[in-house]
Amino acid sequence: MTIPFDRLRRALEEEQFRLREELARLDARAPEGIGYHDHMADDATDVMDQTTRAALRRHLEIRLQEVEAALRRMEEGTYGICVMCGRPIDIARLKAIPFAALCLECQSKRER
Ligand SMILES: [Zn+2]
Repeated sequence: MTIPFDRLRRALEEEQFRLREELARLDARAPEGIGYHDHMADDATDVMDQTTRAALRRHLEIRLQEVEAALRRMEEGTYGICVMCGRPIDIARLKAIPFAALCLECQSKRER
């Protein structure tokens, strides 16, 4: 029962790259980001867009933090170990969610 570190690390690095790209793209489009406005957008669309964008940005940032924390745990040799209870995380779970920091049990406890 060994964890396929190489494969998971690649998956994490690809996800990290993808998230950074998306965040950069989001910032490039944000009026407050670089300091110019997209004059094509009317005000109503713009307001809605900013709310959606803020929510999306937050989601991407949280995900990126999780991915980077997982990569850090790989460096430290604690990857695949639940950060709450210290027990190994199920490999099937890691394959599905390579950035998982908690085992299923702790995850469900936290979500409750
Ligand atoms: Zn746990």
